[in-house]
Amino acid sequence: MADLTNGFSRRQFLASTSCFGAFYAVAKFIPLPALAAELASDSRVSPTPLVDKGFASVRKIGNGLYATISDTSKGFQTTCNGGFLVGRNAAFLIEGFSSAPGASFQMDALRMVSQVPVKCALDTHYHYDHSMGNSFYGASGVPLWAHASAAKRIVDSYAPMQGVEKDTALATFIKRVRDAKSDMERAHAQSDLDAMTGIFGVANASVLGLPNHPLDPAKLPISIDLGGLTAVLESYPGHSGTDIVVRVPEQNVVYTGDLLFNGLYPVCFDAQVTVSGWRETLKHFAALDKDTLFVPGHGQICGQEGIAMIREVFDDIAGQAEKMYKAGIPVEEARERYIVPDKFKSLFIWAWGFAIGSAITNLYVEWKAGKS
Ligand SMILES: [Zn+2]
Repeated sequence: MADLTNGFSRRQFLASTSCFGAFYAVAKFIPLPALAAELASDSRVSPTPLVDKGFASVRKIGNGLYATISDTSKGFQTTCNGGFLVGRNAAFLIEGFSSAPGASFQMDALRMVSQVPVKCALDTHYHYDHSMGNSFYGASGVPLWAHASAAKRIVDSYAPMQGVEKDTALATFIKRVRDAKSDMERAHAQSDLDAMTGIFGVANASVLGLPNHPLDPAKLPISIDLGGLTAVLESYPGHSGTDIVVRVPEQNVVYTGDLLFNGLYPVCFDAQVTVSGWRETLKHFAALDKDTLFVPGHGQICGQEGIAMIREVFDDIAGQAEKMYKAGIPVEEARERYIVPDKFKSLFIWAWGFAIGSAITNLYVEWKAGKS
């Protein structure tokens, strides 16, 4: 397995230098922050990782609970966070990651601590960085669970990126950079093009693997008994229309998927994003126990302070957008005019339009429809 990982990472490196482009160049400069002091002293959290491969490390965060935390400054095998739960009778893996070697890495980490059968793996949602490594589970005979819409959305979103030239797939993004009316607009458009180039590179190079165990959100929550360890799967609105979280109530631990970004502006580009729904979801997380440990979809493990921070970010985006909405500023202009306040300058913006611009568009749509 180690050889496979190494072989793949060399190929990925070659691919990244040729077509993944500036997205990777930017992300390379953003190393993962260290574990916050209060978490480092949390008795649930192991001070040293079980394994650290650079691109991701795995750390024990509870009784039978592990978090896989990615550091994209060191590689893109995993890209998102995940983790696994180990009971007496079975294990439960979280995320398909951005490549098969990424998923394989997490499976290897599980096998360092337990040989129990794997009950299943879960994609917390269908996005490429959580699902492009799904083929590993197919090849390993691991049942793959996800929201009932996830399989279709993987196919609809990523199959069109296969068998086409890069410039064709990226044409509308390239045009936006060319047509930009100011340096600021051009920089925003370029950040979107860089992100899309990254998505295209990964989707184009991956064999798509689809979840074979659809979870009907109307039938959630469900409890999974792994033997002395119970996980609860819950569905919430917000980031993608397919979001499932894994909660371990007895230990106050939540694997949120991308319903929580820690240290980054939330990514809101999905066609089914709902900013009002997402803010309600975060309000619900904020009402969980004050000692709750969150494994976010991206960024370092955090406590309730991470939830408070992303809620503040949404408050700020909504506050600025509402002023512009009420002043009659068209959405196309409002998307560009948001100002990052000093207190959020340290947050990483993956791509302007995919994060801030999309949030503002969604807020405008919701206000026009008379929602929030
Ligand atoms: Zn996502």
